[in-house]
Amino acid sequence: MPGFVDNLKHSLFTKFMISFGLILMFSISIWAYFNIKYQQERLKKEVSAGAERLSDTIQLGTHYAMMNNSRNDINQIIINIARQKDIETIRIYNKAGQIKFSNLAPEVDETTNIKAEACDICHRTDPPLTRLSLGKRTRIFSSANGYRRLGIISAIYNVPGCSASDCHFHPEEKQVLGALDVVVSLAETDQQIAAFERGVIGLAVFVFFATGAVIFLLMVRFLKQPISRLIAGTRQISKGDYAAHLDVEQNSEVGQLAMAIKQMGKEIGAKQAELNRQMTEYQNLFETVPCYITVQDRNYRLLQYNKKFADKFAPQPGDFCYRAYKGRSEKCVVCPVERTFEDGLAHQSEESGLNRHGELQHWVVQTSPIRNADGEIIAVMEMNLDITERTQLTLELEKSEKKYQEIFNNIPNPVFVLDADTLEILDCNDRIPTVYGFSCAQIKGQSFMETIPKRDRQRMQSELTSSAVINQVRQFTKEQKVIYVDVRISPSEYKGRKVLLVTTSDITKRLEAEQQLIQASKMATLGEMATGVAHELNQPLSVIKTASSFLMKKVRKKEPIPEDILFTMAEEVDSHVDRASKIINHMREFGRKSDLNLVKVQVNQVLERSFEIFSQQLKVRGIRVEWNLDSDLPEITADPDRLEQVFINLLINARDAIIDRLEAGGQDEVLTKIFLRTRGEADKVIVEVCDTGVGIPPAVKDKIFDPFFTTKEVGKGTGLGLSISYSIITEFGGSISAVGNEPQGSCFIITLPREDETAVE
Ligand code: ADP
Repeated sequence: MPGFVDNLKHSLFTKFMISFGLILMFSISIWAYFNIKYQQERLKKEVSAGAERLSDTIQLGTHYAMMNNSRNDINQIIINIARQKDIETIRIYNKAGQIKFSNLAPEVDETTNIKAEACDICHRTDPPLTRLSLGKRTRIFSSANGYRRLGIISAIYNVPGCSASDCHFHPEEKQVLGALDVVVSLAETDQQIAAFERGVIGLAVFVFFATGAVIFLLMVRFLKQPISRLIAGTRQISKGDYAAHLDVEQNSEVGQLAMAIKQMGKEIGAKQAELNRQMTEYQNLFETVPCYITVQDRNYRLLQYNKKFADKFAPQPGDFCYRAYKGRSEKCVVCPVERTFEDGLAHQSEESGLNRHGELQHWVVQTSPIRNADGEIIAVMEMNLDITERTQLTLELEKSEKKYQEIFNNIPNPVFVLDADTLEILDCNDRIPTVYGFSCAQIKGQSFMETIPKRDRQRMQSELTSSAVINQVRQFTKEQKVIYVDVRISPSEYKGRKVLLVTTSDITKRLEAEQQLIQASKMATLGEMATGVAHELNQPLSVIKTASSFLMKKVRKKEPIPEDILFTMAEEVDSHVDRASKIINHMREFGRKSDLNLVKVQVNQVLERSFEIFSQQLKVRGIRVEWNLDSDLPEITADPDRLEQVFINLLINARDAIIDRLEAGGQDEVLTKIFLRTRGEADKVIVEVCDTGVGIPPAVKDKIFDPFFTTKEVGKGTGLGLSISYSIITEFGGSISAVGNEPQGSCFIITLPREDETAVE
């Protein structure tokens, strides 16, 4: 009930109705008041005018009787007139206030008080007033019977007829002779006025209620109902029914307001939907974010937390951060939440500790303050990322890195880590100082090309990025000494960069040893060939000897020597000296210790040259050679001196194998033959040196290329020929193999890559 009264008190409709009611009541009351007033005045005026006319009539009617001083006539006239309805009294006073005539006989000759109401109006002054307006002469007074009366007193003036008459004249200076007082009843008039008043008041009340009712209905129809619907609609909107139907079919301002509210509802609905979507999104984020999120108060009590936290720590209602995370009974010594509460700033820290199961955990903790509208910190949000696994992995990685660093450093070969694009040395292992003399720190940041002689840099640059293996690379040591290394390259990644892992093996000593072996082998070959060479040199020497003997004999005999013979002999001597020098130069060149010198080589020429130095060896043993050379043989890249050494080794072995067979009893001339063949194929050149010797027994076939393997007797064989031939041919990118020769002996087949296909420049 108080609520209803309160509502009513504050209701706009009530206020409107009360205001309208008061204004209406005020207006109608004013109207009724003035209407009644007007009617009262009008009736009073009418009654006054009637009484005035009556007074005039009485005066005129009694004038003649007065002139004749006929008292009876006057009395009769007065009594007769007074018989008319509503006329109460008609009195005529003399100047002294004595009633001279009256329709009420008892009061005749009574003297009234001159100060009485009717007389006082003129006798207030001295001398009394003689002329007064009707209003002032009129008086209304109540009768003893309860109704009102209206009295009009009129002066009876001294007219010439009175003053000049001889009957009972009045002195001329006397203006007023007496007064006529007419009193009429206002009972009927008052009844009329009362009826009118009732009518007006009744009408006013009717108009008030009728207008009030109409206004009420109109207000209800056009204001209260639509407003109630608007209120109901807005309540629906506030409850979330954003498409609420507002049943206000008006084009008025209220209708427009309804449309605006409807539109507002729709917009709020759309915004709310968007807010809901975002809220759901953020809620999902909050719940599914892969870290623990809690909101804590100043006592570290958990106010909110996400699902991941709830799943992992299963907190009790009203639980504390330190208990849920670590099973502690009090807060942690270092607490970022506490710091955030203290300084209002976000803090981040990495923490380690035992969880409530006693396991070592690592966390990254991030805190930030939550403030209220006044900017006061009411809570702190803590985001906790479990990095235990990552930390363990990092530790393991560190261990593993350390292990690999140790392996890296203990690799017996130097290892360089080069940037794949710039070939900058990014890292190197501990073997570098041993081989190169400089420390890793000294060459870090330099280009790997700095360690390569200038003339080799271009080749290395391209091969480093395209090959896996590069043999016999020249490199500088700290003392600018050149060493030879074999290089192995493998692409990799190092600290997020593409790198080349370059491993080098110092082969300088091996190469030197090989060089010495090659030289030793050469010397042995030279020794082998000594007999043959001696034979070879013998021929030119005997020619020269013959010529010199002939010349000495002629000189001694003092015989002339014909000029043409002398010239022929000189020519002969000259050509044989040339031949001897050629043989000696060839031998000297062959025996010279030389470095590897790769050039374009025509294999046929090298084979012929090898045979040239060796032919005498075969000739003395009756071994014939069958040539079958490909005249279109393509060139290869090789060192001609070393290739010659290979061919000579093969020819020596072929010779020995044939001799062995001959010594073993085989005398077949057809079989004392060496076959020298060359042929070119698509990408290679093939050389075959075949013999008709003893052949290679299967038992030793796998060993013949081993260093120092020989089946020859001591002092004859060194066991170096084939092994050195093998390494020389391999060095040229080729291959050498031994097969049986049909029907007798063995065949050594050398395959060398063609010039454009060769791997070794
Ligand atoms: P050496 O000739 O000093 O023995 P090699 O390395 O040249 O050293 O040869 C190794 C061995 O291979 C020889 O001792 C021999 O047994 C065998 N051999 C080489 N060439 C032939 C050949 N043409 N016929 C048969 N056996 C051969």
